[in-house]
Amino acid sequence: MQLSINYGTKTIYFDVIYRKRKTMAITVEAPDKVTAIVPVGMKEETIKKKVMTKADWIVKKLYEFKNVKHIPLKKEFVNGESFMYMGRNYSLQIELDDSLQVPEVKLFRGKFIISTPTKDEEALKNAMEKWYREKAKEKINERVEYYQYKIGKKPAKVTVKEQKKRWGSCSSKGNINLNWKLIMAPSPVIDYIVVHEMAHLVHLNHSKEFWNLVESILPDYKERRKWLRNNGVRMGL
Ligand SMILES: [Zn+2]
Repeated sequence: MQLSINYGTKTIYFDVIYRKRKTMAITVEAPDKVTAIVPVGMKEETIKKKVMTKADWIVKKLYEFKNVKHIPLKKEFVNGESFMYMGRNYSLQIELDDSLQVPEVKLFRGKFIISTPTKDEEALKNAMEKWYREKAKEKINERVEYYQYKIGKKPAKVTVKEQKKRWGSCSSKGNINLNWKLIMAPSPVIDYIVVHEMAHLVHLNHSKEFWNLVESILPDYKERRKWLRNNGVRMGL
């Protein structure tokens, strides 16, 4: 179902998804998708009223998407901001807890929850990045393990790290580097990058043979690559 509200001179259109939950959550995704996830049975008028209380934030987000198309989006560490993990968006909830030394992140009941003694953006961002890096390592190591039998080669070393402009790389020594931000992508897309870099263990180029090898393992690799080209800009903090 789609609803809309008028906010100043603007009309905000949004999709409504009913779920078994107690509170409403709103997500805004590039370029202009607004979604309200609401408890089953919530009345239209109530939904509209609640979305209206967030209208200012929604308009700001939509405006950002419009103006920074090619620049990676900067996340805000405030309640309701959405963060990607394995291809899905989860909204953030910040819970102040003075008994903690450093912020702690967890994914719980469909939300990212940061329990934190501070609201300092840098501290929250670091905690979130640390969480993503750990998940990325686990997932990538597991996928490398899985595909090494299909490719028949094993990397000398796998490193998950920050890479400004690429998702992965493979050296002539057989070392593979993968970008931790990959963990924001859906599983099939993560697999594509893993297979791509591991196929370089066999062919250290982008020759026809290289692509044939990738295709023999992932026949639909082009679709997976397309997802990354379309959504890569959203994968960041
Ligand atoms: Zn390559």
